[in-house]
Amino acid sequence: MLIVKKFGGSSVANADRVRHVAGLIAEDVEKGHRVIAVLSAQGDTTDELIAKAHEISANPSKRELDMLISTGEQQSVALMSMALHEMGYKAISLNAFQVGMHTTRVYGNSRLKRIDSERINVELDRGNVVLVTGFQGVNRYEDYTTLGRGGSDTTAVAIAAAMHADRCQIFTDVEGVYTADPRIVKNARKLKEISYDEMLELASQGAKVLHNRSVEMAKRYNVVLEVLSSMTRAEGTLVKEETQVERLLITGIAVDKNVARVSLIGLADVPGRAFRVFDLLSRNNINVDIILQSIGREGTKDISFTISRDDMEATRTLLEANKEQLGAQEIQLSDQFAKISIVGAGMISNPGVASKMFEALYNAGVNIHMISTSEIKISVLIAQRNVELAMEAIHDRFNMAGSI
Ligand code: ASP
Ligand code: MG
Repeated sequence: MLIVKKFGGSSVANADRVRHVAGLIAEDVEKGHRVIAVLSAQGDTTDELIAKAHEISANPSKRELDMLISTGEQQSVALMSMALHEMGYKAISLNAFQVGMHTTRVYGNSRLKRIDSERINVELDRGNVVLVTGFQGVNRYEDYTTLGRGGSDTTAVAIAAAMHADRCQIFTDVEGVYTADPRIVKNARKLKEISYDEMLELASQGAKVLHNRSVEMAKRYNVVLEVLSSMTRAEGTLVKEETQVERLLITGIAVDKNVARVSLIGLADVPGRAFRVFDLLSRNNINVDIILQSIGREGTKDISFTISRDDMEATRTLLEANKEQLGAQEIQLSDQFAKISIVGAGMISNPGVASKMFEALYNAGVNIHMISTSEIKISVLIAQRNVELAMEAIHDRFNMAGSI
């Protein structure tokens, strides 16, 4: 069997953890499997490297930043290779250049386009465990690029797809995918299986267990993912096309605290105002999530929308500079909100899911500021201070902790 195993930063945080993971890899080798392991940078290395860059420059060149932060993964693979050698196994580390992991041009948030399989195959044929750097790629200028925070998951899935691996295991510091973040909701339950679509919504709505592009890619190439812990032997969660074991109305709840709300008050109630606002934002690369427009009264209307908190200051400056052209009487921005989303394929055929969610929030005394829905997701914007209360209430209302 050809197995791709991906280990996150906490799984390889120090020498003991590296040795422990080497042991897990060795178990597969002993069973006669061929192993490719994709590694993230150790512990907080990526954050520390970014902090170093900011000690030098408030606005470092994106190319140089990728050059810097891609070194974290390179440390991990070299160390893991040494650990395997110490244990008497053949292993070799390869970075994005050596493998040939080709990405789009952009730095900082690049996309994988193609992975060459030749070098990896040669090394596997030589009897090596192949240790590959996650998160990084090479663009057409032969520069290092990175895939966005958490991007090593995507590297692993892409390699599993390119190499036609039999298994793709994503090892992390939790035992799988839960109905909600177990640090917030005490009785959150580990799921046996989840569909790609549900996982994609959860990952996009703030659940941090998998990089959302990795799920997109797994769906596209039909790679079944196994999410499990490197610390325990517990069974993990399978991410795949169709799930059979559990037929839940709601599969999971996600929270996203990285949101800010923007309100434009007193816009003229005439055609073209929404276009002006969102055209301005899109031309400045500011992504908008939930949008709400009030009904017109006495010739004016209000438009509110949410953005990533990282874009808040840029948005403030942009809107203030264009206040007159937009015709807004007032512009308000706030970072005191959080977005809570419930996700479940069962929603499509079951009316009343939204009202159940709103009832749970009402009973908990939590006010809803914005609502948005898609086929398998309902999101609400609430005050940040109510996050725990709201998540517990929704989790209880849908009996998510209970048995099936
Ligand atoms: N080391 C990178 C990060 O911290 C990539 C990853 O961990 O997946 O975001
Ligand atoms: Mg991760």
